[in-house]
Amino acid sequence: MTPHERYPHLFTPLKLGPLLLPNRSLMGSMHTGLEEEKGGFHKLAEFYKERAKGGVALIVTGGISPNREGALGPNGARMQRPKHAKQHLPITKAVHEAGGRILLQILHGGRYSYHPFNVAPSALKAPINRFRPRELSTRGVKRTIRSYVNAARLAQKAEYDGIEIMGSEGYLINQFIVSATNHRTDEYGGSFEKRIRFPLEIIREIRAAVGPQFAIVYRLSMLDLIADGSDWNEVVALAKAAEEAGADAINTGIGWHEARIPTIATLVPRGGFTFVTKKLMGEVSIPLITTNRLNTPEACEAALESGCADMVSMARPFLADPDIIAKSKADEADSINTCIGCNQACLDHIFQRKVASCLVNPRASHEGKWPLHAKAVSVQKIAVIGAGPAGLSAATELARLGHEVALYEKKSEIGGQFNLAKLIPGKQEFYETLRYFNFLLHKLKVEVHLNTQATAEMLKEFDHVVLATGVTPRTWEIPGMDRVPVSNYIDVLTGRVKVGRVVAIIGAGGIGFDVADFLLHSSESETADFYKKWGIDRNLDERGGVLPPTDTLSKHEVHLFQRSPGKVGGRLGKTTGWIHRLNLRKSGVQTHADVKYVEVNDAGLNYMQNGAIQCLAVDSIVVCAGQVPHYPLENELRGFNVEVHRIGGASNAKALDAQRAIREGLELAYALSELDHDRTQ
Ligand code: NAP
Ligand code: SF4
Repeated sequence: MTPHERYPHLFTPLKLGPLLLPNRSLMGSMHTGLEEEKGGFHKLAEFYKERAKGGVALIVTGGISPNREGALGPNGARMQRPKHAKQHLPITKAVHEAGGRILLQILHGGRYSYHPFNVAPSALKAPINRFRPRELSTRGVKRTIRSYVNAARLAQKAEYDGIEIMGSEGYLINQFIVSATNHRTDEYGGSFEKRIRFPLEIIREIRAAVGPQFAIVYRLSMLDLIADGSDWNEVVALAKAAEEAGADAINTGIGWHEARIPTIATLVPRGGFTFVTKKLMGEVSIPLITTNRLNTPEACEAALESGCADMVSMARPFLADPDIIAKSKADEADSINTCIGCNQACLDHIFQRKVASCLVNPRASHEGKWPLHAKAVSVQKIAVIGAGPAGLSAATELARLGHEVALYEKKSEIGGQFNLAKLIPGKQEFYETLRYFNFLLHKLKVEVHLNTQATAEMLKEFDHVVLATGVTPRTWEIPGMDRVPVSNYIDVLTGRVKVGRVVAIIGAGGIGFDVADFLLHSSESETADFYKKWGIDRNLDERGGVLPPTDTLSKHEVHLFQRSPGKVGGRLGKTTGWIHRLNLRKSGVQTHADVKYVEVNDAGLNYMQNGAIQCLAVDSIVVCAGQVPHYPLENELRGFNVEVHRIGGASNAKALDAQRAIREGLELAYALSELDHDRTQ
């Protein structure tokens, strides 16, 4: 099948202002952290070049502020002076040489800017920022508009193909548009017409400054997901006015960052917000771009085919796989490394002030460090034991480097802990990672031995043995535990054990939360449940698109315990932890911190809290108390002339996560290989 047969809409060219694009894919804006790193612009050039080579029609850079007040952090990247434009030249050059097109996103953080000199339409502190903004004077507003125009001119000097004006997600422009954050009484506040004056003057003045041959995309917040956000009539009116002011296309923004509704996490159904852009179709004559949780060519094609938009934007999927478009075009969708929406190595890294990368593709943002097409000088025979994330990563990377690799797995399928993760509601995307690894194992001719318990005798002829044997659940002992059925999370998730109505979960880490979610999942369809549960108005009748959320009732009463004091689930990921905590609260899960387990007796689970013994009558106890490393064979292999290495949980079970496991597999593969830079695949 040709791409035009399989994805006819995705591979139809599109005219976007002065640009004729070969297909309808856009790489949405993503801050990588390289923008602020020393020498980061050259790494960014590599990063964007890879994506341009991979066939994406148009790239939007991470948000760059037009001035100091608008920078996202105290040293956040700016486009304010000629020297800034100069820094960007390697990026535009690299993208153009690779046949791509690129826009600079101009983003002023307003009250979201995380520093003490931030500004906003009104001096109202954002719930997600500890710094209260200073209210811009009228002269200050006009000066800010001029700084947007200056940034656009500099972007032109830096040889960008255009700009995207960030008007959504609750940043400065959005703060002007919405009455909740704009209490001004001058010409930039009050009525809706006055509140949208700020974005319209920005578009109009930029257009006058840059001329017609420079693309302007306006990112419009179509669904604020906050109380007192814009209503649908205002969204339509702003879109029409933006077109009239000179925008060449409108991109979709969903949800302010302070909204307590998930918009991009794995539990959001694929293409879950394309219905919003669809409602705007036909209201303007410029192209509309839809976004959020589009992570496969099929999801993109479906959105375009059903008339939801003229173009599709994916951001994180290009971290996971720079070649997603080229692979779709070559009809090799099976070979796509799909973004699973976990946020763990991209957005969580940004919040930890680390460079954004990708859990399923640790090469992202480190393109030069582990060259994809390199080969090892000498071929070695390497056995990898365990086909979980660490073992799969090691086996495929070693094979990619040209080694002879055999992979041993005692179970009947690959996946390890991923096979458990994919059973959790909203985490079904883990299937995609396993599909991808299966594809790679086959393509790279890794010898796979399933249902095989490797023995030292079987491994003695190898040069290296990689123990990726994972972890075993930590056991939990307490007096009287034979009085109540006690099981571990594996037995519960795999269905080997059915729990009773009242359940105590011992341990409130990622797995304790996952098990609670698993037990509470309602029987309704995932999609219907998502909108209802989080209070999203699919008819777009309500201001801001928010409805009162619905709490879901479960057949289980679930209690989550931890011994440490503080917030239960406080160590979960920064950008998704709040979703997990809120999700369980909505389902009535009760949490207990700072407890000491005492005993189980006929009355139930007894624990000490606040200096007193409490008793919970439980039907079942599920132990999610972490793991211990599991590395059989190491001692037996000592007698042979084989080098043994441990990675993933087998090396360190503490704070194990798939991100570390996959990265360690890659790192070991390169550490074991002297690279032959003249030999490529
Ligand atoms: P974890 O995050 O280390 O949590 C283990 C829990 O068990 C803690 O709440 C700990 O709390 C408790 N615990 C530890 N030793 C105990 C003992 N001897 N007796 C009773 N309780 C004990 O481990 P996990 O939940 O197994 O998760 C493993 C890894 O998978 C994590 O690092 C996480 O990154 C990853 N993961 C993440 C997610 C997610 O983010 N959604 C989901 C699944 C897995 P106290 O010591 O306070 O009792
Ligand atoms: Fe997607 Fe997770 Fe990778 Fe981020 S870290 S790009 S969410 S797979």
